[in-house]
Amino acid sequence: MSFELSTVCIHGNGKRKNVENTGSISFPIYQTATFAHPGVGQSTGYDYTRAQNPTREEVERIVKDLEHGIDALAFSTGMAAVSAFMELFKPGDHIVATDDLYGGTIRQFRLINEKNGIEVTYVDTSDLEQVKAALRENTKLIYVETPTNPMMQVTDIAAVSEIAKENKCLLAVDNTFLTPYYQNPLDLGADVIVHSATKYLEGHNDTLGGFLITNREDIAEELRKIIKTTGAGLAPFDCWLILRGIKTLAVRMEKHQENAIKVAKWLQTQPKVKEVRYIGLENHPDKEIINRQCRGFGGMLTFRVDSQETAHAILEKVKLVQFAESLGGTESLITYPMTQTHADVPLEKRLEKGIDETLLRMSVGIEAVQDIIADLEQALS
Ligand SMILES: *Cc1c(COP(=O)(O)O)cnc(C)c1O
Repeated sequence: MSFELSTVCIHGNGKRKNVENTGSISFPIYQTATFAHPGVGQSTGYDYTRAQNPTREEVERIVKDLEHGIDALAFSTGMAAVSAFMELFKPGDHIVATDDLYGGTIRQFRLINEKNGIEVTYVDTSDLEQVKAALRENTKLIYVETPTNPMMQVTDIAAVSEIAKENKCLLAVDNTFLTPYYQNPLDLGADVIVHSATKYLEGHNDTLGGFLITNREDIAEELRKIIKTTGAGLAPFDCWLILRGIKTLAVRMEKHQENAIKVAKWLQTQPKVKEVRYIGLENHPDKEIINRQCRGFGGMLTFRVDSQETAHAILEKVKLVQFAESLGGTESLITYPMTQTHADVPLEKRLEKGIDETLLRMSVGIEAVQDIIADLEQALS
């Protein structure tokens, strides 16, 4: 079966696995650590929840179908997914990564992987020449986030995938910002997709989760061994929350986007706002790539104000919009990348990217847009 995206969010592309026969519309939460064996040398297919759990399998099935993969694995957080993925690499391997990555991913590379002998070169992956120049004999992975956080730079996934194939290395794409509703990196040549399901997939700012999705048998097999071994699989109840969240992904993404377009355009008219970065604006430098590889623009935007005082005033005066990290939930959130998400990025790197005391990032929620704008207006005044 093959359904439209909004149907896949609710049903996947086929039937759910028949593990119970009550007719329950909502998939049951298998809140169990272990499973009884019918006999010696026999298994129901479920032995121990670290390795298999029906509720986890159900959410993995939906996410796999949404991302057009052959397998998806659910982890306790987005970072647990990144960390498990990095177990595919070994000392002496080299990675080329987007220089404007999510701060936590940079921290994972620096604190854990570099210590363990993996080298990482950070480049602006929206510039293909920089990607090519960074490649080495031992490059095993190109790791891309697009659009980036918080600068909204866009990388041409298909073009980088060509480079990866020529160099016989993998391409991984963090698809947290656009979600499979607006972008499918595997279709553009990526080998692995990373998600923080904490964000739009779950969508309600109340659960953490992460996914790895792949369309390669060999990678899926390795990742299955890793999740079973290192044990960061998502707990049954959290799987269920994400299953429920994804059911409304389509309607939420449409509303996030509709609101974000209006907020971005309104911000552009404000005298204290010096720059608005949103991939849905006509002035985005990568408009041509965006139109080619994305079906929409999502709800994340970044803006620059005239001074640190203005930035601080906004953060302290917002009432409806909450001053908090994270993104992708029903509630509008505003963050200060300099001291929050990007606090661990070295100062000069941060300033080079333009992440300074005047930069604010907003996750536009699904409240009535006039209320979001009214709140920003009073905070800016
Ligand atoms: C939040 C986030 C992560 C990390 O996910 P957690 O669920 O917070 O561990 C990774 N990548 C991006 C783009 C994110 O926004």
